[in-house]
Amino acid sequence: MNIDKKERLRSLYKVDEVLQDECLVFFKEKLPYSMIADSVRKEIDLLREAILKEDDCPPALLDRPLFLDRVISRIQARSTPSLRPVINATGTVLHTNLGRSPLCKKAMEHVQEVSCSYSTLEYDLKSGRRGSRHDHVESLICQATGAEAAMVVNNNAAATMLVLSSMADGREVVVSRGELVEIGGSFRIPDIMSLSGVSLKEVGTTNKTHLSDYIQAIDSECTAALMKIHTSNYRIIGFTEDVPLSELRKLGDRYALPVIYDMGNGLLTDLKDHKIFEPDVREAMKAGADIMLFSGDKLLGGPQAGIIIGKKKYIQAMKRHPLARVVRIDKMTLAALEAIFFEYQDPDKVLENIPALRMLTCTREKLYKRALRLKENLMSDAGTLHVNVEPCEDFVGGGSAPDVRLEGWAVTLHSDIRTTKQIEYALRKSQTPIISHISQDKVWLHMRTIFDQDMAAIAESIIKLKG
Ligand SMILES: *Cc1c(COP(=O)(O)O)cnc(C)c1O
Repeated sequence: MNIDKKERLRSLYKVDEVLQDECLVFFKEKLPYSMIADSVRKEIDLLREAILKEDDCPPALLDRPLFLDRVISRIQARSTPSLRPVINATGTVLHTNLGRSPLCKKAMEHVQEVSCSYSTLEYDLKSGRRGSRHDHVESLICQATGAEAAMVVNNNAAATMLVLSSMADGREVVVSRGELVEIGGSFRIPDIMSLSGVSLKEVGTTNKTHLSDYIQAIDSECTAALMKIHTSNYRIIGFTEDVPLSELRKLGDRYALPVIYDMGNGLLTDLKDHKIFEPDVREAMKAGADIMLFSGDKLLGGPQAGIIIGKKKYIQAMKRHPLARVVRIDKMTLAALEAIFFEYQDPDKVLENIPALRMLTCTREKLYKRALRLKENLMSDAGTLHVNVEPCEDFVGGGSAPDVRLEGWAVTLHSDIRTTKQIEYALRKSQTPIISHISQDKVWLHMRTIFDQDMAAIAESIIKLKG
């Protein structure tokens, strides 16, 4: 080892001495001492390695503030949760990567109330005996959907498995080839079927399936059920034909077979006025599905959950099925779901009270005004940043209504001194990260998915980009 390196190693910072530095006082008050000491030690270790490896003196050895910056960054990284809130400025309402539907405040309050203490999760207050966790939401769901019975599980994928295992184990379920969906890369109907011990009997072609196709496939020994799956994340257009639920119902009656409908979305409000044409839970129930299943965090606007509704005799068998325990819903989700279904008891206010529905139905005028307000807040001195208000297209997301483009408004940004990628990155690095999107060499902030209370933080982050 040459003399320089020895000298540098000798002059390395000492853990105890760094820990006394004033700039760490703030952190020492808030965070565990060991976390801070570990971070200091780690940065010193890195510096030691750099001294041994490199011929030149590492800059952080000469520049103490630089070294301390690194220590602080490390402390901040260690003490920031990985799962954290972000501002969704993508205009995609049920953004799967950003947590699908945001919960309403009342749901969160109910979660907190029930989870931070003991609860009646499986306790019947009337009898003083063991109760069922399904009871808390069953009657609310039945009321909202018109179903005879209901149960909830972890998500719709789990619901599909439980329904198939319970109703068709070891036998065949008839499905149209046009409806063999894949959702989000990991949920594929054929795979779920085989996992559930059910044989998939595919009928028809990709674009057309006729009633006669189902009839030919029905086998009095092997067929356990007819299943319809909503093609939630794609549309087949052109020469197409599928068999509506009501026709499948008639067929089910003729051959004494149950009809299962995986509808995905769980739409419980009429959004036709807002140009969102998706199957509605209540209509589908009327059309005669024996069992229907849908997600809690898509158009229902609640927490991740799988909701199964329909005939009592099937639901009762599902509640007793061994898989029910495997896909059991937890108390936090149950609390959120109960609060969400409470909201549905007030149909006049539900579009306002459930954030996802409020965003989906927000008028263009409101979005325009919001964009204008943001622009005005920024424009006192635009500097090198160009801010514009432009029309944009928003999406429902969450694999729902892929053909629906909602007319929205955005604030777009571009700069004389920064690339759009740099702007996008800077926004993403904000204290509350802002997730935007780049198009036409501009950064787009879609107003639809931004909460009012986040507008100030967005303005603040953008103002930093002016310089
Ligand atoms: C979204 C969806 C699923 C999967 O639901 P998760 O709640 O994400 O598990 C299953 N089937 C259909 C038709 C869907 O749209």
